[in-house]
Amino acid sequence: MPLTVQQGVCLKPFNTFGVDARAAWFAQAHSVADLQQLHEDARLRHLPRLVLGAGSNVLFARDFDGLVIQAAIPGIVPCGQTDEAQLVQVGAGESWPALVEHLVRTGRPGLENLALIPGWAGAAPIQNIGAYGLELAERLHSVRVWEAASGLCREMPVEQCALGYRDSIFRRDRNGERIIVGITLRLPLRWEPVTGYAELARELSARGCSHPSSADIFEAVCGLRRRKLPDPAVLGNAGSFFKNPIVERLRHAELLERFPSMVSYPLAGGRYKIGAAWLIEVCRLRGVTRGRVGTYENQALVLVNRGAASGAEVLELAHHVQQQVQERFGICLEPEVQIVGA
Ligand SMILES: Cc1cc2nc3c(=O)[nH]c(=O)nc-3n(C[C@H](O)[C@H](O)[C@H](O)COP(=O)(O)OP(=O)(O)OC[C@H]3O[C@@H](n4cnc5c(N)ncnc54)[C@H](O)[C@@H]3O)c2cc1C
Repeated sequence: MPLTVQQGVCLKPFNTFGVDARAAWFAQAHSVADLQQLHEDARLRHLPRLVLGAGSNVLFARDFDGLVIQAAIPGIVPCGQTDEAQLVQVGAGESWPALVEHLVRTGRPGLENLALIPGWAGAAPIQNIGAYGLELAERLHSVRVWEAASGLCREMPVEQCALGYRDSIFRRDRNGERIIVGITLRLPLRWEPVTGYAELARELSARGCSHPSSADIFEAVCGLRRRKLPDPAVLGNAGSFFKNPIVERLRHAELLERFPSMVSYPLAGGRYKIGAAWLIEVCRLRGVTRGRVGTYENQALVLVNRGAASGAEVLELAHHVQQQVQERFGICLEPEVQIVGA
């Protein structure tokens, strides 16, 4: 496919919030050679750059006065195995939900808990996607990146990616200096179901699955997600807008004394993760509408575009939620969504 570079492109179809921002320049890269060509293009060389996948974890607060590169590199290729896992190389531009379904249906279990997470494979390591008791980190072997400084590709083993809760080394990259062109997954040869997450365990039990297969878990996760989360094609959103805050033991104890019904989960090292959705609900901000934006009725953590809202309106609501939670609990909610042009 020939590389085309467009000017003044509307980004509405390229972000799941469905906000109407514009990119000064826009290109879809289908190969590493395309990335190189864009890098060498004299018209684009000194512009700010933004790498985009499916746009399901970004909020355009205003127009982007630079080059947006959609990393649309295809390919799903089995590439051998280790003692414990089979390895599968996936191009950055492959759809994540389609990939998970394909692997489960073709008898390669391991990713079923991460079913139906929107986006492309190349963005999965950026915030170490996670759901229903599993994080990508547990199934990632390495990440292949193209680096603007050298113009070369490099394989980064998972240990070098600093993957944490909704975090990685890539979250701190700026200006498209390092672009993920593919990932290699490690799918366990001796698969064991991951069913420790209470909501998933309840769903499996309601479905009568006492010894669930990978396909059972896949279906259960899809069912849960369809009930709980809005479909971006119907109601613009980017999933959870904020991360669950993490606090030290002492702070957790203080909060629990003041709010005995607080939702929290113990972590390693004596710290606690607090349910951000619970914090927002207590502030009576679940299912509210402010102008053309709001919070979702079934999940307070999800900010929604109720129709033709701008990114600035969504951001204003996000600030309001942060302010209310700060005032009531003294906790600062950190956005999970990447805000462009805040
Ligand atoms: C309804 C809904 C539910 C969701 N549920 C979950 C969930 O359960 N768990 C979860 O973890 N996330 C969830 N998300 C968030 C989102 O699906 C993930 O973050 C996903 O990985 C984003 O993929 P994307 O291709 O859309 O990335 P984009 O939104 O396009 O990009 C996200 C970030 O990654 C950068 N980026 C993208 N591709 C590349 C690349 N190739 N190289 C370098 N940088 C890149 C972008 O610059 C941006 O900073 C949900 C979102 C929605 C809309």
